[in-house]
Amino acid sequence: MPSSFSNLSLAEPLSRAVAEMGYESMTPIQAQAIPVVLQGRDVMGAAQTGTGKTAAFALPLLQRLLKHENTSTSPARHPVRALVLLPTRELADQVAQQVKLFAKNTNLRSAVVFGGIDMKPQTLELKRGVEVLVATPGRLLDHIEAKNAVLNQVEYVVLDEADRMLDIGFLPDLQRILSYLPKQRTTLLFSATFSPEIKRLANSYLQDPVTIEVARPNEAASTVEQHFYSVPDEEKRHALKQIVRQRGLKQAFVFVNSKLGCARLARSLEREGMNTTALHGDKSQDERLKALSAFKAGEVDLLVATDVAARGLDIKDVPAVFNFDVPFNAEDYVHRIGRTGRAGQSGLAVTFVSGNDVRLVADIEKLLKRKIELEAIEFDEDKPRGRINDGRRAWREAGEVGDPRDALDAPPRERERPARPPREYRAPAAARDPFFDQPYEASAAEVAPAWEASAKPAASRVSANIKTKRKVAALFKSE
Ligand code: AMP
Repeated sequence: MPSSFSNLSLAEPLSRAVAEMGYESMTPIQAQAIPVVLQGRDVMGAAQTGTGKTAAFALPLLQRLLKHENTSTSPARHPVRALVLLPTRELADQVAQQVKLFAKNTNLRSAVVFGGIDMKPQTLELKRGVEVLVATPGRLLDHIEAKNAVLNQVEYVVLDEADRMLDIGFLPDLQRILSYLPKQRTTLLFSATFSPEIKRLANSYLQDPVTIEVARPNEAASTVEQHFYSVPDEEKRHALKQIVRQRGLKQAFVFVNSKLGCARLARSLEREGMNTTALHGDKSQDERLKALSAFKAGEVDLLVATDVAARGLDIKDVPAVFNFDVPFNAEDYVHRIGRTGRAGQSGLAVTFVSGNDVRLVADIEKLLKRKIELEAIEFDEDKPRGRINDGRRAWREAGEVGDPRDALDAPPRERERPARPPREYRAPAAARDPFFDQPYEASAAEVAPAWEASAKPAASRVSANIKTKRKVAALFKSE
């Protein structure tokens, strides 16, 4: 099986686009899926965000659609030929951006539709005609009902992050959408895991699929250097800043367990001079996209996020992930640290463990199937004296319970510096999987190791245009 894109017989406009994006060797999912999709077979792929699966389906689809390429201005000459369905707006947006880049040297058109924003610009784009339509299910149904999207010429459908779509409750929407598509088509299904529900979905809608598995679920990327530090709540911010400084980290994701904690921490860090933004479920879609692009553009150093808000975001090469709070679900630990050490890069994952987290750490140990050593941090300077801030007073006035994490803002006499173990901070070398020292290569027999942990996509807010007929509404409040 070829490992270099140049070994594939991709048309020149596509291979040029790939070269312009700087891709050289194929990722394992690409090496395995592209030749199969080029043959027109159905695929059931176990692959997570970050494995390069977008190119794995987009490139061969575009290649096969090139026969329809034309420069006519008539919408009738540009019917939807490929439909890519994703569970969240962020994922849809990311995939659509990649598809646009792959297709930029061709006359194939692509568009994305998702909820939470005005339908009109999407309608105009659909009416002009697009060959590749990337969509979230709810908004797509809105467009189908409004007769903006006609799907009777679809030849390819991709169900991406299918497990997440089922989790969110999109199955009825998917069934409806699939009922509008021609029976004669190629169907590609990607999912982090092959649960019984996913298998049932595949049995119903895929024909004799080729199964491709490149990522084992619940396995943390072996390129990630993981540390668990024993840090009391009131020392966590100081610990975070020290590690950022000591390691010379340019950017990091900081995960917290609650929306409130997320906003507070981001505000505190910002006040203390760190360039920080928060990403949580209470932010509008527009604010979230802005926060994301500011982080991607390097304008923001720390992105403080909740699990739900961060799911499925394609932010690659983040040098470090901090678990400011130990996640309540061990699986979220794997998802969080999957943000770093992506695509064969090495990464750092730091988890702050305080007194009450013992059970949560035990859960992570069980999931990772290895013993977790708690390390101590030796602070290298006296921590800064905090200020009482107005925001904090405002929360108090609003009747909220104070967060022990805000103790740095308390006057010094209220704080007590806990005794620190006399151990020096020493970063153990990361255990490297030799796989990551080699260029991407896939053999027919090989089940490639996980590149990264699975990334659960964010549950999106229900658009005004989408009737809340599922358990979605409940999910959005569950953060
Ligand atoms: P995906 O899993 O498709 O979301 O891809 C994760 C990230 O890896 C994206 O930012 C891609 O641009 C990048 N990527 C995908 N394929 C390759 C490749 N063959 N070489 C380098 N980077 C890649």
